[in-house]
Amino acid sequence: MQDITMLVEQQRSFFYSGSTLDYRFRTKQLKALKQMLQRYEQEIYIALKEDLNKSSYEALTTEIGFLHMEIDYTIKHLKEWMELEQADTPITHKGTKNYIQKEPYGVTLVIAPWNYPLHLAIAPTIGAIAAGNTVVMKPSEYTTSTSSLLSKMIYDTFDTNFIAVVEGDAEVSKKLLEQKFDYIFFTGSTAVGKIIMEQASKHLTPVTLELGGKSPVIVDKDANIDLAAKRIVWGKYTNAGQTCVAPDYIYVHEKVKGRLLKAMKKHIKAFYGKQPIQNNDYVRIVSSNHFKRLEAFLTNGTIVVGGDTDKETLIMEPTILDNITWEDPIMQEEIFGPLLPVLTFSTLEEIVDRLKRMDKSLALYYFGEKEKNQHYVFKHISFGGGCINDTLYHLANPHLPFGGVGTSGMGAYHGKYSFETFSHRKSILKQTTKFDIPIRYPGGKIAESIL
Ligand code: NAD
Repeated sequence: MQDITMLVEQQRSFFYSGSTLDYRFRTKQLKALKQMLQRYEQEIYIALKEDLNKSSYEALTTEIGFLHMEIDYTIKHLKEWMELEQADTPITHKGTKNYIQKEPYGVTLVIAPWNYPLHLAIAPTIGAIAAGNTVVMKPSEYTTSTSSLLSKMIYDTFDTNFIAVVEGDAEVSKKLLEQKFDYIFFTGSTAVGKIIMEQASKHLTPVTLELGGKSPVIVDKDANIDLAAKRIVWGKYTNAGQTCVAPDYIYVHEKVKGRLLKAMKKHIKAFYGKQPIQNNDYVRIVSSNHFKRLEAFLTNGTIVVGGDTDKETLIMEPTILDNITWEDPIMQEEIFGPLLPVLTFSTLEEIVDRLKRMDKSLALYYFGEKEKNQHYVFKHISFGGGCINDTLYHLANPHLPFGGVGTSGMGAYHGKYSFETFSHRKSILKQTTKFDIPIRYPGGKIAESIL
C-alpha cells in the first residue's frame, strides 16, 4: 500500500516537473515504446504462447502489429493534434480570440484484462503518453507470463516516475483505486466496470470504460453466404472467441440457415483442420474456471459443429449450437469463448424490435446486400460500433473511435480518439485591451457616459 501511494506521489511530482508537456518528450517516449516491442518481440511470442497458446501469427496480427500501427500513426499526427485549436468568435464577443488547448490530465491508471494482454495494456498507454500523462498500468492476473514480461519491459524502458506496472489481482486493483488518479482507463467486464466507476466517483476521477456484452451477427436472406460464413468464423474463433467484439450469437434468416451452417463448417475445417483440438496454433481457454463455465453451455441446444473439449490443455473446439432459444443459459450472459449459438428470424423488423430493447452491445454485424436494410438496422439499434458484411475489422481502423455505449462502456479510443480521451480540452478566451464594450456591465451604456 505504502509502495502504491509512493508510486502515485512520485508520478505526480514528475508530472508537475512539466517534462511531459513537451512534444519532443512525448515522441521520444513513443519511439522508445516501439523499440521496446521490437526488442522483446521473441519474448512476447513466448509469453502469449504460455498464457493462451497464441500462435506467433495471431500474436503478430492481433497484438504486436496493431500496436506498431497505432504508435506510427500517433507519432505521425501528434504535432497537429497538440496544436491550439481555434474556435469561432460570435458577434457578442467582438475583439476576442478563442481557442482550445489540449492538456494532459496528469497521473493515469490503465487497468487491463487478460484476453489480449499485451494489446489492451499498451494501446491505451499510447494515448496516455501522446497526451502527456504518466501511467500506472495494472495488467490481468490471469495471464501471468505476459504481465511479468510487461513489468520487465516497461521497467527496462521507462522511468517508473513516468510509466510503471503494478502486477496483481482484484485486491491490488482495489488498492490502486483508493489512490487519487486524474484519469482511469478500464478495459474489462461490465460488472467490474461498475465497481471502477463507483470507486472513481470518490475522487471525481473521469473514466473510460471499455466493457463487453453480447454482440449479435445478423445474416439476412440476401447476404453473400459463403463470405459471411468465412468472416463470421474468423471473427468468432480468433483467440477462441475470447474477444470483446467477437460475434456472440447469430441471428440468421430462416431461408438461409442451412447454407450458412454448411459454409461455416467448411471454413472452420479450412482454418483449423479436421480436428481443431489437435491444432497447435489454436488458442486455449484462459483458466480452468473459465473452461468450466463454458463447458456448461455445451448442453444448450444441439451441437452441429465441434463440441470436443480437452480439460487438460483447456482447448475447446470451434463449436456451433443450433436450436437455441432466448431462455437458454448461453443467451443470458456474454459467452466469451468458442461457442456460437444460432437463432433464426423471418422478418428484420421482428429482430430489430427485440435487439433495440436489449442492453446495448459493444458490436453488431449485419450481413446483407440491400442498403435499405443496412440503414434500417443501424438506424434503429444502438451499439458501440460494428460492420456491414464483416466482423471485428472496424476496430483496426485508427480513424474510427472504438468504444461501447450503455452497458458496453463509455468513451472511446484508437488513433486521434486516444489522444482526445487522455486530454482535457481547456477553453481560453483572449480579450482585447484596445476597446471595451460597455453593454455587459451593470448600468450598461449609462455607466460609461457618467465616466
Ligand atoms: P474483469 O473485469 O474480470 O477484469 C479486468 C481487470 O479488472 C483485471 O485487471 C482485474 O484484475 C481487474 N479487476 C477484477 N475485479 C476487480 C475489482 N473487483 N475491482 C477492481 N479491479 C478488478 O475482465 P476480464 O475477465 O479480464 O476480461 C473479460 C471482459 O472484458 C469481457 O467482458 C470482455 O468483453 C471485456 N473486454 C472489453 C474490451 C473492450 O475493448 N471493450 C476488450 C477486452 C475485453
